[in-house]
Amino acid sequence: MAAVSDPFAAAKLIVVKVGSSLIVDAKTGTARREWLKSLCADIAGLKREGKQVILVSSGAIALGRWVLGLHDGLLRLEESQAAAAAGQVRLAGAYAEMFRAEGFAAAQLLLTLDDTEERRRYLNARATLKALLDLNAVPVINENDTVATAEIRFGDNDRLSARVASMIEADLLVLLSDIDGLYTADPSRDADAIHIPEVSAITPEIEAMAGGSISGVGRGGMEAKLVAAKIATGAGCEVVISMGKTPGPIAAVRRGARATWFFADASPAAARKRWLAGVLHPQGALFIDDGAAAALRQGKSLLPAGVKRIDGRFERGDAVVVYDQDGHEIARGLIAYNAADAERIAGKRSLEIEAILGYRGRDEIIHRDDLAMTDGSR
Ligand code: GLU
Repeated sequence: MAAVSDPFAAAKLIVVKVGSSLIVDAKTGTARREWLKSLCADIAGLKREGKQVILVSSGAIALGRWVLGLHDGLLRLEESQAAAAAGQVRLAGAYAEMFRAEGFAAAQLLLTLDDTEERRRYLNARATLKALLDLNAVPVINENDTVATAEIRFGDNDRLSARVASMIEADLLVLLSDIDGLYTADPSRDADAIHIPEVSAITPEIEAMAGGSISGVGRGGMEAKLVAAKIATGAGCEVVISMGKTPGPIAAVRRGARATWFFADASPAAARKRWLAGVLHPQGALFIDDGAAAALRQGKSLLPAGVKRIDGRFERGDAVVVYDQDGHEIARGLIAYNAADAERIAGKRSLEIEAILGYRGRDEIIHRDDLAMTDGSR
């Protein structure tokens, strides 16, 4: 996608990520309430323009370590997890209060890496987020630090925010930082460092510029931000790294404050379809009737009624190939039922699903958002 004059104007779904150093006063360990209010007011403003916004916020550990008297020195893993537990309550409380004052409900989601990668959980996390957005709430996300062990941690919320942006097909990811973007070198150490306003491809040269971590409080330095930018732009989401410290930080970048923009080469929907179409190891196959095939070609979802036969062993959320009656591949998608349940509802009407399976699953066996045509029809 080429640079447009105001990428905010074009964006429908925006993910905003804020780091610990913006939220927590390092000297007192308390929340920077006036700044937080200005952030919530900016987000409320975007919502009033009809945009959907998701906030990914750090700060739990930085707040909680003071609450628990752990503010001096390095924390052991279980201490930072304890701090996260104590701090998250305060963080969520502050957001609930501030968004309520703006007329919106805040809703907390604590995610682990599995929730954005393991497909069954991914479908659940995505469906919950979509439901919250439809209900006009502001989802506020953090990593579930209290249960995540070293291996299953995102580690930094930059990466988490990028995974969320790609999972939900956001158009724009705003990484609010303690620096106004990417420089050719670390400007705090190198007076000749030059600011880079736009990046169209994250090349090894660009990566080399990021160097070590810049921020003292959070975990993500510029390197983590570039990893995030790579994940998000690969999913069709544009990214901006901008200075968060200013009150009203989103309004500021919108007014043209210095920042670094990363452009994506496809729309989120096209990037997702590209990814679905290219899934290398589908776990199963569905053979569908002509009526269902015609519906898919018109951009509709696949309902169980149109499924004639099922092959393979797959779990809910796995990728499957869809064939027409003659055995020609027409689509690929993520299936909403495991193989055993899919077998039982194949050929049945969606209304009957609950009676057959004993639970109310989704009406669609593959939702249109999770489907890519591979026969060239769309
Ligand atoms: N999830 C951590 C917290 O809320 C912060 C991770 C990060 O700094 O990116 O304290």
